[in-house]
Amino acid sequence: MFERIERVPGDAILGLIEAFKQDPNPEKVDLGVGVYRDAHGNTPVLASVKKAEKRLLDNERTKSYIGSHGDPEYGRAILSLVLGAHSPVLAADRASATQSPGGTGALRLAADFIRSQLPGKSVWLSDPTWPNHLGIFEAAGINIERYPYVSDDNRLDFKGMRDCLASIPEGDVVVLHACCHNPSGFDLNAEQWQEVLEIVKRRKLLPLIDFAYQGFGDGLEDDAYGARLLAENLGEAIITSSCSKNFGLYRERTGCLIMVAQDSEQMQNVRSQIAITARENYSNPPAHGAAIVSEILGDEALRAEWEEEVTGMRDRINSLRHDFVEALRPHGLSERFAFIRDQRGMFSYTGLSPEQVDRLRDEFAIYMVRSGRANVAGLAADKLDYVARAIASVVD
Ligand code: PMP
Repeated sequence: MFERIERVPGDAILGLIEAFKQDPNPEKVDLGVGVYRDAHGNTPVLASVKKAEKRLLDNERTKSYIGSHGDPEYGRAILSLVLGAHSPVLAADRASATQSPGGTGALRLAADFIRSQLPGKSVWLSDPTWPNHLGIFEAAGINIERYPYVSDDNRLDFKGMRDCLASIPEGDVVVLHACCHNPSGFDLNAEQWQEVLEIVKRRKLLPLIDFAYQGFGDGLEDDAYGARLLAENLGEAIITSSCSKNFGLYRERTGCLIMVAQDSEQMQNVRSQIAITARENYSNPPAHGAAIVSEILGDEALRAEWEEEVTGMRDRINSLRHDFVEALRPHGLSERFAFIRDQRGMFSYTGLSPEQVDRLRDEFAIYMVRSGRANVAGLAADKLDYVARAIASVVD
């Protein structure tokens, strides 16, 4: 039977990683891969995570199943991190948390829920978006539509987005990036979130807020502005949260699906359906990453240490954004690329064409995705001038 199976090309980013590894050029720079990098180009285990793991090793008493919703303590900690410790949504007991295998697992749970419980509803994704959004919703058998997000001249196309959302059929699902939009780095400001809220309310849409980078934009609280605004002012919302980036737990697969309903009763109904979806997909989520997060968030000293580490990662990215624009100044390009300073999160749409990206790779061993998306965290302070010079030579 298998002789008829066709081989499909691998993930473009994996190909990029391989090509980077093989490149003998000592100056090479990897701006492709989607993980945080420190000043030495490493993605280390956070000190707070190491400490929590030591405690877990000593204190863990069982490896028995943890149930389809995962660890309740983790669920409570994530609800409070995402919605705020004093959230009226939590006070009304209308939000449910389900521990999931990463943000991806939370998205797949949400997709399966939409497919089975809200049949016929389409999901609207920003154009562009994280490519796996397309894969996840498609795999769940959901019709996908797109709304504009980035204009041809590489700016946030808020007008295009707003006009499109205002014409979406009632009851459809709109996927919004809570902060640090992947791949563009363009985020909504408070006023724009308010407008989105009004449209979602008026058109009776269901927002699905993908929250994969809490703490990487402007801070743990500030980054939650849009997610909290929508959860507090709408009867229903879905939030998918990830601990991959802010806890550096990528391979531990640690995420959470938050379902916000009108009231406690409806929330429990929805929650019961999510348990079935989880059971049918993977039964129980992996425990280790979530146990680390509970340990950190539940301990004042560890939590403070973690918050400092998140601040360190965020500050590094934001200073690199600033310093990179400065490095472009001698080439007369600081105005043209000033938007890089204002974008948020690890990624930047640089506005470079696929041909320019190819030239950066072939002539300078600088690797990034052909869409022109660069991982800012992949820049090292001592590479800024080199990359600025390379960009100057390909844009002329
Ligand atoms: N959403 C977005 C927008 C992302 O960029 C990512 C990670 N690349 C995820 C969700 C999921 O991350 P994970 O499954 O690793 O938690």
